[in-house]
Amino acid sequence: MNILLVAAEVSPYAKVGGLADMAGTLPRAWSVLGNDVRIVLPLYGNIDKAQFGITKLDLLVSVPFGSWTEYAEVWHGILPDSEVDVYFVRSSDYYDRPGIYGYHDGFEDNDRRFMFLSRAAFEVARALDFKPDVIHAHDYHTAVCMPLLKVQYIHDPFFASTAGVFTIHNMAFQGFFDPLRAMEFCGLPPSDFYSGCWYEHDGCFNAMKSGIMFADKVTTVSPTYAQEIRWTPEGKGLQGALQSRSADVIGVLNGINTSEWDPATDQHITATYTPATLESKTDNKRSLLREVGFADDDVSDDLPVVGMVTRLTEQKGLSILQHALPQHLREGSLRLVVLGSGEHHAENFLRDLEHEYHHHVRFVRGYNEPLSHRIQAGSDYYLMPSLFEPCGLTQMFALRYGTVPIVRGIGGLGDTVEEYDPITVLGTGVRFYDYSADELSRALWRALRLYKQEPHWTHIRRNAMNVDNSIVHTAERYLEVFSWAQEKVR
Ligand code: ADP
Repeated sequence: MNILLVAAEVSPYAKVGGLADMAGTLPRAWSVLGNDVRIVLPLYGNIDKAQFGITKLDLLVSVPFGSWTEYAEVWHGILPDSEVDVYFVRSSDYYDRPGIYGYHDGFEDNDRRFMFLSRAAFEVARALDFKPDVIHAHDYHTAVCMPLLKVQYIHDPFFASTAGVFTIHNMAFQGFFDPLRAMEFCGLPPSDFYSGCWYEHDGCFNAMKSGIMFADKVTTVSPTYAQEIRWTPEGKGLQGALQSRSADVIGVLNGINTSEWDPATDQHITATYTPATLESKTDNKRSLLREVGFADDDVSDDLPVVGMVTRLTEQKGLSILQHALPQHLREGSLRLVVLGSGEHHAENFLRDLEHEYHHHVRFVRGYNEPLSHRIQAGSDYYLMPSLFEPCGLTQMFALRYGTVPIVRGIGGLGDTVEEYDPITVLGTGVRFYDYSADELSRALWRALRLYKQEPHWTHIRRNAMNVDNSIVHTAERYLEVFSWAQEKVR
């Protein structure tokens, strides 16, 4: 199958969150399964061209935009550890600046930047004579690929048998745009925009809604989230649109790259280990504690370490953490290591917490992939008390590293972490449901009771390590969805 994946983030080139992981790992897996996969993403100013062997092609594509035409250079690279061709769209007006979305509210011209990318993807495919069986678009940034396919490119014989699949990674970001600008950029008549049309929500052009309404199939990143966004406020106002497409909305659980995230071979960690050699986690724990700056005395005692690697936003449960953590730290029952960056108040809270509980807390501000591996390997528990979580990848990394996840059992967290039952000795972590500091505290106490309590401590960690969340299963499931989408255009 010919698959054209279009996304604003693709790991390892440009990453903010899990979207990049999926857009980078799925193509590799599809390619291994015998498909011809091409990726299109912007050439952002801070992508290191030399590091990734990205070179300029002798190809300038013209991109019809509004009533005029713009041009994009096309650069090329090979997705690391794969044979997948990656095409980078370069436009100095849109992407030369550093950053993917811009800070806080985003760049003012994000409508234009991502609509340009969406249109350029079709033009790049045609220029390369790559006829996609499926165009796979992700989140609001490239959602308009779906209406572009169904309203415009459908008339081009080159795309006549191309199906459109739209994947929702996070309903919280929908791309609310000015309708006049958006319709013009998409080359659509302004009269096609009216209250209740497939582009409109709350009087704005809603890119996410247009993707949902025009796609042949809509997927989201976990089965539970697929239910939540249709029937609960997690749909963030688009429940009606999603319900109208119910027959075509499918939850496909994300997966992880089990070669990159493998405690038996991981180059970033101090001591590699398997379920049979779990005791080596202690070496990783000691070196992690040293690395983040605990004194030797603190490293040698034996408190459980709770790790977090995350964007610091309300989504990740910060308000309940703020209320629950101080009590546990006062009791001295755990050490906390957090890696992340994000909202100022969250960073300030963690900085203050580190200051107040210096023997128990370290906050490392920033983005650091090697350290994220060491936190997964060196922690005893991994904490993810999210307000909402479409899927979440870091709890899957934690499972693979035998690090017991403590999660709120919603969205993909509920689909991937099972409560440990000391009677059956089945289960992989600890879950709670109410979004409250009390519930989180109780879950922490429940989890901490298991620490080194044998045989449970060994069982829960081995159970976790034996869960198979490989991207291969996810990739196979997507191929099934793609073939269903193709049936709709035949
Ligand atoms: P989301 O997409 O909501 O941010 P996910 O759990 O789906 O959450 O994916 C987050 C991805 O980003 C994971 O690969 C995680 O390891 C990575 N990540 C997040 N913050 C950091 C950080 N500060 N340093 C390194 N990796 C990070």
